[in-house]
Amino acid sequence: MNRSLRIAAIWGGLGLLLWAWWAHQGPLLPSQSFHAQGGPTLDDEALSLVPAPDIVEYEVQLGETLEQIAARFGVSLEALVGSNANILDDLHALEPGTVLKIVKNGVLHSVKRGQTLTDIARTYGVSLSEIVRANRLEDREYIYPGEEFFIPGAVTSPLFTHLQMAGGRKSFFAWPVRGVLSSGFGPRIHPISGEPDFHQGIDIEVPEGTDVYASCAGRVIVAGRHSGYGLYIVLEHSNGYRTLYGHLSGIGVYRGQFVEGGQAIGRSGNTGNSTGPHLHFEIVQYGRPLNPLALLPP
Ligand SMILES: [Zn+2]
Repeated sequence: MNRSLRIAAIWGGLGLLLWAWWAHQGPLLPSQSFHAQGGPTLDDEALSLVPAPDIVEYEVQLGETLEQIAARFGVSLEALVGSNANILDDLHALEPGTVLKIVKNGVLHSVKRGQTLTDIARTYGVSLSEIVRANRLEDREYIYPGEEFFIPGAVTSPLFTHLQMAGGRKSFFAWPVRGVLSSGFGPRIHPISGEPDFHQGIDIEVPEGTDVYASCAGRVIVAGRHSGYGLYIVLEHSNGYRTLYGHLSGIGVYRGQFVEGGQAIGRSGNTGNSTGPHLHFEIVQYGRPLNPLALLPP
């Protein structure tokens, strides 16, 4: 055996020993190599720190209500509805045979087109890092519409609020607040100037500080101040629709954010050109104001 062959044999032997040790022990620095490998591979230790979401499927029996099922499994009605957003469209009519996901200690969220993890974190008021950790998304660059993520600790859901504000059934637009209609859509005498005026929306009387909910899912295109509207928010939806929320006392969203229908976006107030606490609400399609009463559920 010549010198170079001998050296190769020694190195080969050392390599084999090292491989055998690695295969037996696992890599030297578990957490680092877990990230470097970019996937849920060998690192049982790191994975065991994140408990898997507790999800069971349940088939609805004849005559059962969502309230009964939520109570039986010890989950909130809001969370039960939120975890079944793709299945449920009516709070009061539940088809027997429907298979519901029962999720403990959180909500299972289905990603919408254009929605980021940051948007989702803000929707549920849960930190981004908790969502990333619970779903092992540390190495992910993209998320996709229709993917389902566990939102740890979430107890409510925008869908539940949407259904409540829509009279129980899913609707393209839902009420942003519930209150007495104090001014309708169309020609009127302006309450401040006393001049003929066209009211481009409706006024709903609510106490200052009432939660204002997105009437429909969409993107925030304005969150700011206007001389007439005061503090106001404009959301952009599909089909050329926009909704506007005026005279707010507080804004809870930022421009560019994706919000769910039924998500709280701000608080009502009396800012701008306003004669008392109320929400001014507009629905506009391709720039044309429409009568919200014709589009909102009863
Ligand atoms: Zn108004």
